[in-house]
Amino acid sequence: MRFAILSDIHGNLEALEAVLADARAQHCTHYVCLGDIVGYNANPSECVQLIQELECPVVKGNHDEQASSNFSTEDFNELAEEAIGWTREHLSREEKEWLADLRLTRQVRDFTIVHATLDTPHQWGYVFSDLDAIASFTYQHTSLCFFGHTHWPTAFVRDDTVRRITTDQIMMVPGKKYFINTGSVGQPRDRDWRAAYRILHTDHHVVEQRRIEYDLATTQRKIRAAGLPERLADRLAQGR
Ligand code: ZN
Repeated sequence: MRFAILSDIHGNLEALEAVLADARAQHCTHYVCLGDIVGYNANPSECVQLIQELECPVVKGNHDEQASSNFSTEDFNELAEEAIGWTREHLSREEKEWLADLRLTRQVRDFTIVHATLDTPHQWGYVFSDLDAIASFTYQHTSLCFFGHTHWPTAFVRDDTVRRITTDQIMMVPGKKYFINTGSVGQPRDRDWRAAYRILHTDHHVVEQRRIEYDLATTQRKIRAAGLPERLADRLAQGR
């Protein structure tokens, strides 16, 4: 069985469509979404609808939370805040209710999914370092957990110690725990502009990193036409 693991789509319809097409070509039959479906880019409603059509397990991201509430957060920078204001105006009441009702963590078969961290998922902390990962591993009760939020496709393994894995094909070994970031579909920040997602091959205990080119020019044109900040279009090309 093959699961496509998607995160941080952020209203980028062209990236999401390209990733879904690749997942189908790779014979994925199951999907999982790690949150932040909306925010930053110009097609939040279309992306929510596409994810709803997959009827897959979804957890809530901080942008999903902000876009579906009327309260501002001090955690958001000016750019994110401006995009959230726009996003709120371009989601239906039903779409906001659906986003607001998403859970923070879920177990899917024998693995776990979360947007930010397992130790305090509602606080939206970032896992960049081994030390950050140790805190989440403490609360990880399955051998595998996928997370998002940083927009960096990093992975950590815990056996006697906790360390980072840099390979694109992770072979999972029994007895170890894996905490794996899928990278971002709609706004990668690891200096690679291509959409990132991962495929879990359950039969072979392998997690594979995928990078997919998409119609970036169209996404940028829509951001500008929507009156969203120019910086949001620029950063997509730079992958940051
Ligand atoms: Zn995000």
